[in-house]
Amino acid sequence: MYNCKDSINLLLEFLDGEMSAEEAQHLKEHLRGCSPCVDFLRTYRATPGLCKKALAAKMPKEVSEKLTEYLRSKIKSAS
Ligand SMILES: [Zn+2]
Repeated sequence: MYNCKDSINLLLEFLDGEMSAEEAQHLKEHLRGCSPCVDFLRTYRATPGLCKKALAAKMPKEVSEKLTEYLRSKIKSAS
C-alpha cells in the first residue's frame, strides 16, 4: 500500500503522463482511503485541458496547503 508521499509523487508523474498499470492500481488503493489526495485529483480532473499543464506545474495553494497539513499529521502519527 502506498503512503501519501508515494502517491503524490505518483500523481505528479501521472500529470506528466507517466504511470504504469501497476502504479495506477496502487494509487487507486491509496485514494480509496485518502481524501486530500482525492481532492487534488478531482481538482486536476475538473481543470480544462489547456490549463492542466499549468496546474501540474503549480499545484493550487489551497490544495497543497491542505495536503501538506495532512501529510504532516500522518508523519507525526507514524513516528
Ligand atoms: Zn494520500
